[in-house]
Amino acid sequence: MHPSDHMSMRTFKANRCRACGIVLGFGDRCDWCQHRPPGHVDAPGEYRGRHHSEWIGTVQVLVDEDDVHALQLLLPRLVVAATAEAEATGRPSHGWFDEQLAQLEERNFGVTPTGRTRDSDAA
Ligand SMILES: [Zn+2]
Repeated sequence: MHPSDHMSMRTFKANRCRACGIVLGFGDRCDWCQHRPPGHVDAPGEYRGRHHSEWIGTVQVLVDEDDVHALQLLLPRLVVAATAEAEATGRPSHGWFDEQLAQLEERNFGVTPTGRTRDSDAA
């Protein structure tokens, strides 16, 4: 992404579901929350009724908007969901949410994760 593209996205405020916080194109509740099954319990790998992979776009928007508070709430839940799925299936978690959380902490709290050398594509 070109740096100027990133700057222009900083003023964009995406609609997010008022109930669960996933990013929406329109409206104030996502389709799932409008028709939420009573007593739903997330399966391993799910957060608030959706597989963690469905939250990746929401995390990307929140990173673009630099919405630190929302990311601090959301990312640990998604790390838990991805970890629970990995434990349930025996397949390793790909660790994308862990990476996002580590980068968030590094940017905002000056915590440098040890043993983590990752090329940054940020300018
Ligand atoms: Zn929702």
